Amino acid sequence: MSTLEVKNLHVTIEGKKILKGVNLVMHTGEIHAIMGPNGTGKSTLSETIMGNPAYKVTQGEIFLDGKDILKMPVDERARAGLFLAMQYPAEIPGITNAEFIRGAINARRPQDDQLPIRQFLKDLDQAMEVLDMTEEMAERHLNEGFSGGEKKRNEILQLMMIKPKFAILDEIDSGLDIDALKVVSRGVNQMRGPEFGSLIITHYQRLLNYIVPDVVHVMMDGRIVKQGGPELAKKLEDEGYAGLRDELGLDI
Ligand code: ADP
Ligand code: MG
Ligand code: MG
Repeated sequence: MSTLEVKNLHVTIEGKKILKGVNLVMHTGEIHAIMGPNGTGKSTLSETIMGNPAYKVTQGEIFLDGKDILKMPVDERARAGLFLAMQYPAEIPGITNAEFIRGAINARRPQDDQLPIRQFLKDLDQAMEVLDMTEEMAERHLNEGFSGGEKKRNEILQLMMIKPKFAILDEIDSGLDIDALKVVSRGVNQMRGPEFGSLIITHYQRLLNYIVPDVVHVMMDGRIVKQGGPELAKKLEDEGYAGLRDELGLDI
């Protein structure tokens, strides 16, 4: 079992305080959700866990299996088992989707244990079938001309192929119609198991009907203000963030 621990994390962007003491512990085998209003720091937390240098950690620590990862660059964190599906996936012309994914897998494996191409193609076929993706999407340039929904599906394809220890999914549901949402959820649910943990960031409870989390965290104004089970997401859907603000007596 692996553990990801965020301890009293404070983060600034361009001198502005965004995260103000975030604490979070998760293990493989668990799915956690973070909900919270726009602009509250959810993407900041995911980018900071993954190591985006634009986000300055001014206080606190992030541990992966007890090892402080804050000094590791992004690629080292990826090799250590972290994965981020971004809110806005980048388009990279000049490299096909399949080449990109194979490169990402092999970059995480030792030189003398690279994934054989036939195995790769077989796994890719299976994953694409789960995600209802057409074969031609593997040969297209990475995210180039992909619709919003196709990009999100593609992030889940990468996730299924790379098989990280911990995957952060930042608003994977935004811009998805209900069918695409079900497909994406099917991919994530297929990953569930003792070797895999996921932190799912969303505005809406809807996604959590399909990927039922073990723990729900609510983030407001750069802090986690409440934790609970899946019922907390339903309560938020009914009462809104304003209801929770009143309940907690928050002035934000
Ligand atoms: P969320 O994902 O919860 O919507 P974000 O983490 O994206 O929130 O943003 C938190 C706050 O940080 C917002 O006020 C946003 O405007 C600000 N912010 C995010 N990225 C940048 C940036 N690159 N430069 C300046 N401010 C930023
Ligand atoms: Mg946002
Ligand atoms: Mg965001």
